[in-house]
Amino acid sequence: MLITEIEVRSVVTRQKNPGRIPFDITINPYRGCLFGCAYCYASEFVYEDPQKRAAWGQWVEVKKNAVDALQKESRKVTGQRVFFSSATDPYQPLERRLGLTRACLEVLLMAAPAHLHIQTRSPHITRDIELLQRFGESLTVGFSIPTDSDIVRKVFEPRAPSISRRLKAAKELHEAGIAVSASVAPLLPCTPKRLARLLAPVFPEAWVGGMNFHLKETELRQLYTERGWEHFLTHAHRLEVETALWEAGLLPSPPRGTIAAR
Ligand code: SF4
Repeated sequence: MLITEIEVRSVVTRQKNPGRIPFDITINPYRGCLFGCAYCYASEFVYEDPQKRAAWGQWVEVKKNAVDALQKESRKVTGQRVFFSSATDPYQPLERRLGLTRACLEVLLMAAPAHLHIQTRSPHITRDIELLQRFGESLTVGFSIPTDSDIVRKVFEPRAPSISRRLKAAKELHEAGIAVSASVAPLLPCTPKRLARLLAPVFPEAWVGGMNFHLKETELRQLYTERGWEHFLTHAHRLEVETALWEAGLLPSPPRGTIAAR
């Protein structure tokens, strides 16, 4: 693992084309992510350097002046919808030691964004529950839970926390009054009804996103074909998952192509 420190001029990036979650700006306290998920395409918009892309998951650049930069830019944040973080997991292992995400959140709290969405795979977020509670209704936390299986998780996200630890952390936040949602994205091989059964007691809602191959199509398809998992890439699998989630009350409407039976 290569951990280096960098100085940045800004940590606030304005977004023109927000995705499913509407937001105006993104904030990333780190470049790189030690979870190193096989499908992660963050490196594609962080770095042109092919070596850095190839070594994604093996390095992190810590934005050592992120807090100062954010303080100087706090007016850009006030009243805006913030996504934290778009190209790194803000609660990746390094955060436990450095507390950079926490320090940035303390600045954000004072800056009063209209809405803050934190996206993570890490149970380490529970360290900050008291701080997160202070954002009140302006905060949502999205947990990425793209499968119910730790066998699958170890193939695609070998260094990310287990599914059970994510669920436990999400439950803790939910019980502390923090709004949580489940991102089943990118949808991985799973047992749809079991996944729905795991998510339903913890999350009021979920959403499903497909695999985005970007530049990694060959390697990713190989992970599927080597294990005979190709059928999990079909529309039928997605439909089965969406139906199970809808039947569990996690999606607002049935997926197209199903007969409403809830
Ligand atoms: S946790 Fe997110 S940012 Fe980190 S490697 Fe996985 S997909 Fe990429």
